[in-house]
Amino acid sequence: MAARGVHVRAPGKINVFLKVGSVIDDGYHDVAIAYQAVSLYEEVRVSEADDFSVEVTGTVDISRVPVDGANIAITAARLLAAKTGYTGGAHIQVEKRVPVTGGMGGGSADAAATLLACDALWGTELPRDEMLELARKLGADVPFAFTGGTAIGTGRGDELSPALAQGSFSWVLALADFGLSTPEVYRELDVHRERHAQDIYPADPRPVVDTDVLQALRAGDPHMLAAAMHNDLQAPALHLEPSLTGVLELGEQNGALAGIVSGSGPTVAFLASDADSALELQVALSASRLNVVRATGPVHGARIVGD
Ligand code: ATP
Repeated sequence: MAARGVHVRAPGKINVFLKVGSVIDDGYHDVAIAYQAVSLYEEVRVSEADDFSVEVTGTVDISRVPVDGANIAITAARLLAAKTGYTGGAHIQVEKRVPVTGGMGGGSADAAATLLACDALWGTELPRDEMLELARKLGADVPFAFTGGTAIGTGRGDELSPALAQGSFSWVLALADFGLSTPEVYRELDVHRERHAQDIYPADPRPVVDTDVLQALRAGDPHMLAAAMHNDLQAPALHLEPSLTGVLELGEQNGALAGIVSGSGPTVAFLASDADSALELQVALSASRLNVVRATGPVHGARIVGD
């Protein structure tokens, strides 16, 4: 008899706005993020097992994804088991479409999907607020992968409030064939801020999302959003990977309203005015040998799907 299974789909994200505050006591930065979940999904299937194991496949380069206890999907499953007193395990199959170390929260989506899938498989029925608490323990972007849509994240990015948003935005994502480590990009930002402390305004310890961004999301207007998008991690990411400057220029020369490094990069997200323009941009960038995919946002967060 086949083992019982549950299939959950969870989205990757783009940070349409990301401001990093000054370093606070514990070495962390407070951030202000406007998240948008986009239609690039991780598919996670869990089935009953005596212990914990993970298998990873996907359309993106998965060579840097661990297939042992270091995989965040296993950490998520173990955390839920510990919280609920469940004594069995789970076999977890992760099908990745979100680029690895791409700044799009793929690992976070796997963690959120695994929590939801194991909760359903095991019948542990953890209340939603306690699930979000576990999500927060797994990483700052995990709660958003759970809720999806459009949201504002403050604190470490995990104190979420929904943002009013209408319409659908068309994105073209340029995927890199290398990754960028999030901590390294933050370190680069700190070094830059220290080196230029005389010439730049000190960062706000409690940053907020610009009202222009909130208005653009509320209006569902891609032109307004293009003008308002911002990412404090873009300059350090470009510093570490200068080739991304050329990618940004190429998109803007080929009709993108604006381009932005997503999170800590190296994925570059281009905003198009509509679906047709996104298709034209995709064709133009593919002709320049970039690996590009289209996506729309916002989309829902982690959800159980029927196979
Ligand atoms: P973020 O945007 O949330 O900072 P990211 O999208 O840049 O993250 P991820 O692909 O989520 O990066 O994962 C980054 C690191 O986590 C990699 O070094 C990878 O080895 C490790 N990792 C552990 N589990 C996973 C997983 N299920 N999928 C991807 N990476 C994983």
